[in-house]
Amino acid sequence: MGCTMKSPHSIFKDTQELLDSIKKADAKTREIHGRMVTLERAIFLSWWCDRGSCSFCYMSTQRDRIRDKARARRRRSSILAEAELLRRIGWRAAFVSGGYGAYSLEEIRDITEQIGEIMGAPTWLNVGVLSKEELSSFSGIAEGVVASVETLRDDLREKICPGKPIEPMREMLTNARDLGLKTGITVILGLGEGPEDLSRLIDFVEDYRLDKVTVYSLNPHESTPFSDSAPPSSLYQAGVIAALRLRFPELKIVAGTWIDQLPNIGIALLAGANGITKYPLYKMFGNRYGKKVEDEILYAGREIVGTFTDRARLNNGDRFPGPWGAEVEAALKRYIRRIES
Ligand code: SF4
Repeated sequence: MGCTMKSPHSIFKDTQELLDSIKKADAKTREIHGRMVTLERAIFLSWWCDRGSCSFCYMSTQRDRIRDKARARRRRSSILAEAELLRRIGWRAAFVSGGYGAYSLEEIRDITEQIGEIMGAPTWLNVGVLSKEELSSFSGIAEGVVASVETLRDDLREKICPGKPIEPMREMLTNARDLGLKTGITVILGLGEGPEDLSRLIDFVEDYRLDKVTVYSLNPHESTPFSDSAPPSSLYQAGVIAALRLRFPELKIVAGTWIDQLPNIGIALLAGANGITKYPLYKMFGNRYGKKVEDEILYAGREIVGTFTDRARLNNGDRFPGPWGAEVEAALKRYIRRIES
């Protein structure tokens, strides 16, 4: 498959090999996928998660503070307004995401369908482990399903995500593929794994013939054991992405960094990312942060799908139709005011 590396992590042993791999990955990305870069945002359904035990996760810090999980759910109108806003500015919904146990399956299906209608294409799901029967009910509604594996080091997983064993995720990915759904995973770099663990990721992508991998760099949240951890280096994230690109030329790779790691974007794109994600839209749109993202894309020689700066597009839509119309319009106004303030 075009990979000439001895072992995946040899990419980190020699800077010339790293540079050479990024160069090849850039060429391969342009050849297979072209120049376009998507801006993606996960649409969160709630701030509640029944598991609440992943030590890096913001939701784990909220679990004891939330008395009534029903009140941690977002209003339907807010969710739909966010989808409409993404459509207007040309972003993709990375996936529909919510903590475990906050919604019934029927509600998730209904919301996913509505988001797909707004965005003009079915979106992905990242709502925990679903059985084969549950997955089948999303046929035609979801494009694919994502398993948030976070790390593939078993010792780390047991410590960091004790409530989220990997076996059910493996089963879900197999079932999803059997049902004709696309499959993906999210991983977070910086949880304690290192270059020597890269082969686990490569093997996992191979074993499950994944269509998409989202490679986040750790965003150290306050009140978590990672609050004072340094996010991983830009070149580590880029090396992981380049190794994936060279081994899996067709794979969709999305790179996620936080607002304080924006310079990572350019090198992640050169290494083969198709899209970028994880940015606080409302804090960054139309200001110097959004401009910085666009410049990173520009200087990587790539072209942006949509915009991170064009405020005129925020209002570029017809009145929202249907029974949710008035509420969605009100939520849209609130979001646009927040961006413009
Ligand atoms: S299962 Fe997901 S949402 Fe819940 S605590 Fe873990 S990472 Fe956070």
